[in-house]
Amino acid sequence: MFFLILFVHAVGSKAYVEFRDLIRDWRPLCPLCLSRNLVLNGGYLRLLTILLLPEEAWVYRKKCPGCLQSFTLLPADVMPLHSYGQRLIAHRILACLDGIPLRSRLFYQQSGLVPTVSEGDSIEVGGRGRSWSDLLDSEGFAPSYQLFHYWRSKFSRRAQLWIPGLLIACILGGCDLRKRLGESLSDFRACPVDLHPVLLAAGLVGLLQEQPVRLSVASTLQLLCGSTSRSHKPLRAAGRPPPHCGGDLESSQLRADMERRSPL
Ligand SMILES: [Zn+2]
Repeated sequence: MFFLILFVHAVGSKAYVEFRDLIRDWRPLCPLCLSRNLVLNGGYLRLLTILLLPEEAWVYRKKCPGCLQSFTLLPADVMPLHSYGQRLIAHRILACLDGIPLRSRLFYQQSGLVPTVSEGDSIEVGGRGRSWSDLLDSEGFAPSYQLFHYWRSKFSRRAQLWIPGLLIACILGGCDLRKRLGESLSDFRACPVDLHPVLLAAGLVGLLQEQPVRLSVASTLQLLCGSTSRSHKPLRAAGRPPPHCGGDLESSQLRADMERRSPL
């Protein structure tokens, strides 16, 4: 028996931690057998991005008394197997698709990862003669630009595995690959060649979801997370969800309980 990941639909890390007792006591219907309600089955500490950077928080496991399948309940903004949240990773990959360099100072500042200071102030802080590149290497900003590079190459490798399956899904779904795909990708003329697989995958997911590429990057990365590098499993198991992902768990009752408890 293995643990499937279930995302709590529309509940982010902040709400997950803030309303931890509601999550603990929540007993949704088992999404696999639909016969019994899930019961609490322990939990573990995991890094969640509650504000900007990851911090340790408790996530709950649930078990179905009927089919005995165990689930880990994660907030909707978590990227499986990653410490950093979906928002930051998708933001960085989207910046890469726009051709923004991995060491970009503007990206660090706009993401709130370093204080926004003027060029002159930063020279004062870092010491005269120290450039932004020097600071990047000496200050150990988190996440590092080396981690950005790792994300970029990993998602690009995984996108290559998913493109044939996504193309088939688009063809079967009657998507307009000839015109609409080209139009949706035309904004990304500065995209580096090594990221073309990610761009194409996001474009195909965008066609399937009928939304612009920019809005599809996060869900594309979630999809790519389900594949293992250099594995052909996702292609052999076409149509099935990623091996570790049980999908979204509808949370309308939970959301209503949260809203009732929110001090508005
Ligand atoms: Zn079940």
